[in-house]
Amino acid sequence: MTLFTDGRPAAATHDRAPQRRPVTPSWWRDAVSLATWASLLIVAALWLRGGGATDLDSPTQTYLSLGRITGLVSADLLLIQVLLMARVPMIERAYGQDELARRHRLVGCTSFFLMVAHIVLITLGYAGQDARNAIVEAWRLTVDYPGMLLAVAGTACLVLVTATSIKRARAKLRYESWHLLHLYAYLGVGLALPHQLWTGQDFLDSHLATVYWWTLWAAAAGAVIVWRIGIPLHRTLRHDLWVTAVVPEGPGVVSVHMTGRQLDRLPIAAGQFFTWRFLTRPGASKGHPYSLSAAPTSNTLRITVKDLGDDSRSLARLRPGTRVAIEGPYGRLHAGVRTRRKVTLLAGGIGITPLRALLEELAQGPGDVTLIYRARNEAEVIFRRELETLTAARGAHLVILLGPRVPDRASWLPAEAAAWSDSAALRTIVPDIADHDVFICGATAWMDAAQQAALDAGVPAAAIHVERFSW
Ligand SMILES: Cc1cc2nc3c(=O)[nH]c(=O)nc-3n(C[C@H](O)[C@H](O)[C@H](O)COP(=O)(O)OP(=O)(O)OC[C@H]3O[C@@H](n4cnc5c(N)ncnc54)[C@H](O)[C@@H]3O)c2cc1C
Repeated sequence: MTLFTDGRPAAATHDRAPQRRPVTPSWWRDAVSLATWASLLIVAALWLRGGGATDLDSPTQTYLSLGRITGLVSADLLLIQVLLMARVPMIERAYGQDELARRHRLVGCTSFFLMVAHIVLITLGYAGQDARNAIVEAWRLTVDYPGMLLAVAGTACLVLVTATSIKRARAKLRYESWHLLHLYAYLGVGLALPHQLWTGQDFLDSHLATVYWWTLWAAAAGAVIVWRIGIPLHRTLRHDLWVTAVVPEGPGVVSVHMTGRQLDRLPIAAGQFFTWRFLTRPGASKGHPYSLSAAPTSNTLRITVKDLGDDSRSLARLRPGTRVAIEGPYGRLHAGVRTRRKVTLLAGGIGITPLRALLEELAQGPGDVTLIYRARNEAEVIFRRELETLTAARGAHLVILLGPRVPDRASWLPAEAAAWSDSAALRTIVPDIADHDVFICGATAWMDAAQQAALDAGVPAAAIHVERFSW
């Protein structure tokens, strides 16, 4: 099979007529939010129905009752967390993974502190009831009640996961080590289940509660099995992707070209990303997210990667023929979220990758699209020829802003434009920016500044779409 033509990858078949594009109806977000609050309300209602608010005659009863509600809400949030991170398409597309990761942290912390409160309150309650020392009571509860030893092991897993997710601890760990430890959360959730089933008053007393909890547990487990394991495996086998070429694009930046079968059957759009596993040793177990840097075709995909660590660096050494496993596509940075005809693409550094693909795929007339690309210097500008060719062919505007950062304030502009305010500069480059959709991708601080500039320039929040490269 011919892989290369003049040292470049064989030409892609640009005949992709995608049958399934990602859609993101605006009501999905509200539906997910509503379902989350509804589940908390159901838990509270079940607790009230079980006499939660009436069992408060003595401190002991109060401890036990509050211990029950904190445990129930904590378990509910734990399962909501699993669902949030299960890559359920409706949830993933409604929020995007960066926003989900933020919510996951918030829900996770709340669930963890409620779990600690549950343990303390239940122990104090039983200690009061049995007139025992709290430590002795904790030991008795652990060894005498069914499922409690497993629950203690589950709690230890969750403590480990929470402790290693604290900013300072996480900064000291390699991403892969942190991620591996984080998977113990699933074990923790699984080990906590039996004590809830076997000893939880709400499970034992109410048929309604039993149905609710079993449904939630089954939904969480099912979502993980289907969307985190089943579908990625199925897509990897069905599309049979492999590397055709690795092409240098600039200092420390390479494009990886891949080919596969029936890619038009993937619900994918330019601007989205996959988690990629290149099936070489030792890289096979390590998945990394990279955005498509060219519009997908029916038989090719391309990513472009900057060397930012061990694994991204190792992509430069990938050999043609390497098999590729995929998880995705994910991400909200695609034409499906567009709300207006006019579009500004704001790219910082390697954040150009998804926006380069979007520029290619967005439906547009002459003058509809402006791409503003911010790089430190000319050497760091990648895809210059491609961008010039694409913008000329599509009648789009290309503005490349070079130079070091503005020294004394967080800004998306280069130092040379420091006299301008961030929003005034944006309005000067794109006078009707307030009528545009704005897609932003780049380093986190740069994106924050760019997003603020767009807001200040009159772009409504709903018309700003971002993809963060670090969560
Ligand atoms: C949605 C998304 C799209 C991205 N698209 C591109 C792209 O098109 N081109 C590009 O060059 N880079 C992209 N990145 C960044 C890229 O994933 C990281 O640079 C890469 O994973 C670094 O891995 P490493 O082992 O080389 O470095 P490490 O030193 O292991 O990691 C450096 C940092 O990268 C992040 N990271 C590492 N692995 C993961 C992971 N599995 N999931 C989430 N974050 C991780 C962490 O913040 C970590 O601190 C993207 C990131 C995200 C989240």
